[in-house]
Amino acid sequence: MYRVRLWSIRHARLMERLYDTFEGTLLRLDPLLRRIGYARLERPVATVERGVKGFLFDCRMCGQCVLSSTGMSCPMNCPKTLRNGPCGGVRPNGHCEVRPEMRCVWVEAWRGAALMNKGEAIMTVQGPVDHSLQGSSAWLRRIRELADARAAGRAGDDAAAVPGRSPAS
Ligand code: SF4
Repeated sequence: MYRVRLWSIRHARLMERLYDTFEGTLLRLDPLLRRIGYARLERPVATVERGVKGFLFDCRMCGQCVLSSTGMSCPMNCPKTLRNGPCGGVRPNGHCEVRPEMRCVWVEAWRGAALMNKGEAIMTVQGPVDHSLQGSSAWLRRIRELADARAAGRAGDDAAAVPGRSPAS
């Protein structure tokens, strides 16, 4: 819903805080999630994610969420689905050249990023969209990646702690 989407961007810092708490909780639950099976959780979690993020951000379920890097303004709502800033057609009033009734998602993204604690993430260059992930849960993917990175970091620390053994060996 467009009005809710704008509200979420206006409250980007609150959204950021809520998401950080949510992510931390899910990360702590990673051992349990693994026991249940990420694959088995995919459908129910994606359904909830679609409902929550669809309501708050007009999420299109691209499966590779970048809201934290785009001021809580979903770039997939750009008619050109640009993920690295606006095109050259932003109207003088900040509206979209394709859909004049809508504000440019990137004008909104800058507004939202300015409110966030980690708003500088908007400078991160985003890779191209992997369309094979369409419809999948970005939440689960993110938690799995963070948990894997954490485990790899621990393994590296353990290896470094063994005398005469390098972390890469
Ligand atoms: S970036 Fe992707 S996952 Fe995130 S809100 Fe937009 S469509 Fe949904």
